[in-house]
Amino acid sequence: MNLTKLENICQAYHMQLAKNISLARHTTFRIGGCAAFWVEICSAKGLSEILKFCHESQMDYFVMGRGSNILASDQGYPGLILHLGNDFSGIQRQGNSLICESGALLTNIAKFAMQHSLTGMEALSGIPGTVGGALFMNAGAYGSEMKDIVTECRYLDKSGTEQILTAQDLDLAYRHSFFTEHDHTIITSVTIQLATGNPEEIAARNADYAQRRKTKQPLNYQSAGSTFKRPQGSYASKLIDECGLKGYSIGGAQVSEKHAGFVINTGNASCRDVLALCHHVQDVVSEKTGYFLELEPVFLGIQGQDGEISCS
Ligand SMILES: Cc1cc2nc3c(=O)[nH]c(=O)nc-3n(C[C@H](O)[C@H](O)[C@H](O)COP(=O)(O)OP(=O)(O)OC[C@H]3O[C@@H](n4cnc5c(N)ncnc54)[C@H](O)[C@@H]3O)c2cc1C
Repeated sequence: MNLTKLENICQAYHMQLAKNISLARHTTFRIGGCAAFWVEICSAKGLSEILKFCHESQMDYFVMGRGSNILASDQGYPGLILHLGNDFSGIQRQGNSLICESGALLTNIAKFAMQHSLTGMEALSGIPGTVGGALFMNAGAYGSEMKDIVTECRYLDKSGTEQILTAQDLDLAYRHSFFTEHDHTIITSVTIQLATGNPEEIAARNADYAQRRKTKQPLNYQSAGSTFKRPQGSYASKLIDECGLKGYSIGGAQVSEKHAGFVINTGNASCRDVLALCHHVQDVVSEKTGYFLELEPVFLGIQGQDGEISCS
């Protein structure tokens, strides 16, 4: 791999290329070894050039938003992390639509919407991820999902070419989208359609949803949110609770006492602890109830490979 070429691209587009970056520091689970390379993305043009480079040099890359739905390997990741965060988070209003760069946090979009008297984001306002990550998985909460508000998105395909998809092409369903089926594509902007509303009422609804999360979810622990997808016909947390697994732990990973659907990091959990615990939960639930619980977080890291990336 020609690292100098990558460095030159980053320099030309005012982006920082860093080495040996801790994934634990950049994921809400606070778990994971180091990524060999990391770029903070600040423009779609720069990102496109990096994708062309990765394509030509066959460099492996992974796109990360807020890191709130990721379980990173203890051994780290030997490729390049393309981080779409603060430096790529602009929000523009056009009538009742908001055009959001994919690194914008849902919380900030909800705040922007409230300040512009726009309603429709409230139920999603407490999801702690970027709008790119939310569209990738069709994130949802309290009966609302990204599918309800997205009208269009722009993305870069593997070769770095910009493409546009309208809502019906996005194939949005429970924790599923066009992007979950198309590896290595990168969402650059998301357009959402809202409706005019009363800012005080919007603020009250945002506060109500935040309070519900605080009451029900173990927000004082590190996690990646709900660890298991909702199986058809039931709820993961209900099944886990009924199997008596609340509070069950392996190493530093524990099934939350407060919400059985969350696996939490009690302080020093490794990826290995989390996986062992999840497999135990899957086995017990399957044996006792017949339901198979699929994992929700995306796995990032070395699979079937030895070796570790040392952090700087
Ligand atoms: C306390 C807590 C509560 C949560 N509550 C909810 C909830 O109510 N509902 C819910 O649905 N989720 C919830 N989550 C999970 C998570 O916040 C969401 O899935 C969120 O949408 C992930 O966004 P992210 O930016 O953190 O994505 P990341 O975790 O960084 O990435 C997740 C996946 O999306 C991909 N991705 C990210 N950005 C892009 C992009 N621009 N283009 C292409 N692919 C991309 C990544 O490659 C990865 O595969 C919760 C998590 C926590 C920690």
